[in-house]
Amino acid sequence: MGNTAVVVGGGIGGLAAAIGLHRIGWDVTILERSPVLEDAGAGISLAANGLRALDELGVGGAVRDASRGQYTGGTRTPRGGWLTRMDGSALEKAVGTPIMGIPRSTLHRLLRKHLPAGSLEVDTEVTAVEQVGPGTVRVDCGTTALEADLVVAADGIGSAVRSRVLPGHPGPVYSGSTVLRAITEHAVDVRADFELTWGRGAEFGHIAFLDGRAEWHAVLSLPAGTRFADPLTELRRRFRTWHDPVLALLDATRPEAVLHHDVNELRAPLPAYTVGRIALLGDAAHAMTPNLGQGACQALEDAVTLAAALGAESTVEAALARYDAERRPRSQAVAGAARQAGRMGQRLSHPLAVALRNTAMRLTPSRAATRMILRHHVWVPPSLN
Ligand code: FAD
Repeated sequence: MGNTAVVVGGGIGGLAAAIGLHRIGWDVTILERSPVLEDAGAGISLAANGLRALDELGVGGAVRDASRGQYTGGTRTPRGGWLTRMDGSALEKAVGTPIMGIPRSTLHRLLRKHLPAGSLEVDTEVTAVEQVGPGTVRVDCGTTALEADLVVAADGIGSAVRSRVLPGHPGPVYSGSTVLRAITEHAVDVRADFELTWGRGAEFGHIAFLDGRAEWHAVLSLPAGTRFADPLTELRRRFRTWHDPVLALLDATRPEAVLHHDVNELRAPLPAYTVGRIALLGDAAHAMTPNLGQGACQALEDAVTLAAALGAESTVEAALARYDAERRPRSQAVAGAARQAGRMGQRLSHPLAVALRNTAMRLTPSRAATRMILRHHVWVPPSLN
């Protein structure tokens, strides 16, 4: 069994994969095209499965200490009525933790802190990846090239490695939704740790952080590429009649802090997560809509599963076959469930359909709602020891 790996991409998935490989004794190099590495994408919520993966990587304690448990909140209508209440204590009782909210830049910094020294090369774009022998992959980055026993493609939804090794796959498509989000400049009295409000074809939500600031997001069903000259003014206009603290969150935000991205996904599932000695991981393998808050959690599961398989199996080939078999069905099922949650949530716009959905949600007992959330959170990581 070889023991050198190149990880393409230094996002949450790539950093986690590198930490996992290092923990099982592999030499790892991470190549990241951005000159500065800090995932600026506002905030993130981590469910029990993602946190357990972080525990196995040795990062869980630090992440929990820097996160805020999402104990209170739920799903609301624009006037403020409750459709479901979230019970963080019930989640904690069932799986040991509520969902945790953390700024992405903090999560990224904590992952970087756990990397082996000197393993991260920024400002290095991978231009080609090629299997050059039965056990060797070459990675080209501009004028230099590296050889390794394994390449982990963690280069995100637009993965160039995926296009190269699975040329028949159609690639990402627009989900129909565009998302604006930001972290407030200062603490805001949001009362609930987490809220999601569904109007017709629109969603507004927030996650509160440990220091009292919060991340908010607004999701709109609009044509791809729609952009606003003054996003905060546009959002105040669209959400002016919505309940507190929607406007307070917008008012606490600097205009330059607002990020705006179209939400894309890999709607056609990949036929394989490994090709030769190349393993696809995270959004490169299964980019999903954010409706269940599971994309990064699934990337963390990938990272631990890959490292555990390489640590346990006697050949790289056997380990990669195990990785594919363990990760593809689960991550693709979660991606399908996320798409479905979007269809029944923010994307629903017909008044009758919205009324029926709201009635069904109001009638669902909170224990049943908790059980539905838990379906995706229950995951036991394989051991890296
Ligand atoms: P990325 O984060 O995309 O990282 C890929 C990296 O590869 C980048 O740094 C990029 O610069 C680099 N790269 C690309 N090409 C090359 C190249 N050729 N050479 C070198 N480097 C390259 N998930 C959750 O679990 N919880 C949430 O609450 C949540 N909320 C979300 C909200 C929104 C609005 C969105 C859009 C997503 C959300 N997600 C959430 C999903 C989550 O953000 C992603 O699944 C996760 O960040 C994917 O990580 P990744 O490392 O696979 O990919």
